[in-house]
Amino acid sequence: MTVIRQDDLIDSVADALQFISYYHPLDFVQAIHQAYEKEQNPAAKDAMAQILINSRMCALGHRPICQDTGIVNVFLKIGMDVQWDASMSVSDMINAGVRRAYLDPDNPLRASIIEDPAGARTNTKDNTPAVIHMEVIEGDTVDVQIAAKGGGSENKSRLVMLNPSDSIVDWVVKTLPTMGAGWCPPGMLGIGIGGTAEKAALMAKEVLMDPVDIQELRERGPSNRIEELRLEIMEAVNKLGIGAQGLGGLTTVVDVKIKDYPTHAASLPVAMIPNCAATRHAHFLLDGSGPALQTPPNVDDWPDITWQAGENVKRVNLDTVTREEAAQWQPGDTLLLSGKMLTGRDAAHKKIQELIESGEGLPADVDFKGKFIYYVGPVDPVRDEVIGPAGPTTATRMDKFTDFILEHTGLIGMIGKAERGPTGIAAIKKHGATYLMAVGGAAYLVSKAITKARVVAFPELGMEAIYEFEVNEMPVTVAVDARGESIHQTGPALWKAKIEEQVIEVV
Ligand code: SF4
Repeated sequence: MTVIRQDDLIDSVADALQFISYYHPLDFVQAIHQAYEKEQNPAAKDAMAQILINSRMCALGHRPICQDTGIVNVFLKIGMDVQWDASMSVSDMINAGVRRAYLDPDNPLRASIIEDPAGARTNTKDNTPAVIHMEVIEGDTVDVQIAAKGGGSENKSRLVMLNPSDSIVDWVVKTLPTMGAGWCPPGMLGIGIGGTAEKAALMAKEVLMDPVDIQELRERGPSNRIEELRLEIMEAVNKLGIGAQGLGGLTTVVDVKIKDYPTHAASLPVAMIPNCAATRHAHFLLDGSGPALQTPPNVDDWPDITWQAGENVKRVNLDTVTREEAAQWQPGDTLLLSGKMLTGRDAAHKKIQELIESGEGLPADVDFKGKFIYYVGPVDPVRDEVIGPAGPTTATRMDKFTDFILEHTGLIGMIGKAERGPTGIAAIKKHGATYLMAVGGAAYLVSKAITKARVVAFPELGMEAIYEFEVNEMPVTVAVDARGESIHQTGPALWKAKIEEQVIEVV
């Protein structure tokens, strides 16, 4: 019988969550680096460079890889011969660890969890509760897999009940393009096959905790149907040409993980959950000897990449830019933004619309005329930081507000992550506005371009408040131009054709 102390589990959970907030798993970094080396589309290569530079900066600076520090997912396997020396339940111990990690004053993580999800959606302020799955197994240890899953990638999860004779590869190939780029590729796919609907989803999530090893599998060759499927799906997905950040390119996923389970003869449940550029997970084992703390990696193992703006980069002064100037930009252009911008995401957009519709108007310091809005919910700053990691959030969530905001505020453009949907593009075209994208998963790097930050409205919304940022040479890509042309439509189509025509190897 092994005795596991309450504090050992709490300390181990808190330590693991701090650790994964700033250290990517090294196998993931190496896989992204290989994809970077191979990439032929300059825009996608550029995005991966930013992800790798950001990763190294976070490992050195002990600050979060992404402003979305995730919802905590935990898989516990508790040995039957374990005895707890604890007054709290296992869930309460885990949540105590989550609370401690997210409120750590040295590296506070963003609290993203809201309760009453169908109602008031009130932030719990400490990122609790975690989503916890427990299994009781033989043995006398407690095995814990823990992840901090970004909302952008979680939102793209898919579940289907196929007919037993249907092709799983076909379903993945058909479904992936419908997920857009809000899951911040390049990343990984977790696929659960079999069981029941909820079992398939659980397996898809759990298998994402496994190491990146598809290249080893390729070299040694598959030894069963699941391994064959991993290779088939990996190749078929990368042939879609979606590429890093959906800009078009050779690598959309660096691994495909699959877990299966027996199922009913009438069923073929399949769940697919993507893991994003901010793949974050850790593993530890409690054996009664004390807390299981993570071992820091050697940061020299991270590639030391430098990023330089290309020759055709345009420098833009946000304080003087006009709608006419912005209308000259082409999809795919790289811009370096300097000057002032306002921020706002989901809750701020809702409030802006309500205040304008009610006739009350916007707060005095919120004047969007001639300005750009940045869709972001930053991490709070520490020490001498102006702001914590502040990467873009998924722009499609703002699509339904875009026509109204452009119509009523004089805003000339937006900055966010990934593609715009048909409603957003139609509004951009109608108002001759533009949409720029920053790299999702490069949040600490982006924050270094922000030289001043102050909250100008809605402080009660926490990270969703409206800030005024002053930026210096913040790199962005023109994603939708004033005529409504979207690089997220043209880029993947172009690279899919190139891969087919030139028979470019994608795995
Ligand atoms: S990399 Fe993208 S999907 Fe992942 S946590 Fe960050 S913003 Fe969300």
